[in-house]
Amino acid sequence: MTSRNQGRAEDARPVREVQQLVSGLPASDGDGVKLIRIIGSPSLNMLDPFLLLDVFESDRAQDYIGGFPSHPHRGFETVTYMLAGKMRHKDSAGNEGVIEANGVQWMTAGRGIVHSEMPEQNSGLLKGFQLWVNLPSEHKMATPAYQEFPADKLAVESRPDGSEIRVIAGTTDQGTTGPVVNHYVEPTYLDVSLVKHSTFKQSLPSEDNAFVYVIDGQLSLGKQGTKVKAGQLAVLAKGASVEAVANKENTRFLLVAAEPLNEPVARGGPFVMNTKAEVMQAFNDFQQNRF
Ligand code: FE
Repeated sequence: MTSRNQGRAEDARPVREVQQLVSGLPASDGDGVKLIRIIGSPSLNMLDPFLLLDVFESDRAQDYIGGFPSHPHRGFETVTYMLAGKMRHKDSAGNEGVIEANGVQWMTAGRGIVHSEMPEQNSGLLKGFQLWVNLPSEHKMATPAYQEFPADKLAVESRPDGSEIRVIAGTTDQGTTGPVVNHYVEPTYLDVSLVKHSTFKQSLPSEDNAFVYVIDGQLSLGKQGTKVKAGQLAVLAKGASVEAVANKENTRFLLVAAEPLNEPVARGGPFVMNTKAEVMQAFNDFQQNRF
């Protein structure tokens, strides 16, 4: 358990309740990739420090085959987590690799990278998430960095009831720590598979912003037991812990949380800075090949 969590373990503040339910909107990005945009949509513009959450899921090649050809990023981190299929990434710094099912790439774009993200398949299911995590102003121009872990490098916690937790970032209450290290916003990123009728409890720093996204099945969240169905994202109110029950069927969900930055956000497509002038500078730098 991290010291940050430890200090809050005896915290008697309440279990987090659902503050907002969001279903997202169909969108298209890159070269015509069909996706559902959940964070970064009109109903949930951002959940500080999370700027965007896209869910892509299709077994129709025409929905994803165009991929995300060469494009820049500056000022934040992109987190790709695959559930099915393969995605090849390649960037201007010479990094290249393939992310496969249950693998994650946590990329700190920092001052800037130019990369492509292309499906490594012509058919079959492609399913996964891309989350954008903002960087604090003093680190927006950090040197670009990658943390990439295939499925077998994630920490997996198996519980006696048959439930399983894949830990990408953060630490579970039972002490399983994920491989991603991030001291900018100290994120928690868990992929939880709950067996029917089982309960999941996890403490979180009380002031973190947090959400649950249900991949399959249905959850009851919080003491109020708010129902959250597959495809829905629940924004959680502040509180010391999360409680979720899979009361109808086996249920898989993401639990993601991090410290809010509470800084001004200026967005311009693939650049997210603190001011419009900094976004303009990013466009200039990109056009002048200064990335
Ligand atoms: Fe990208």
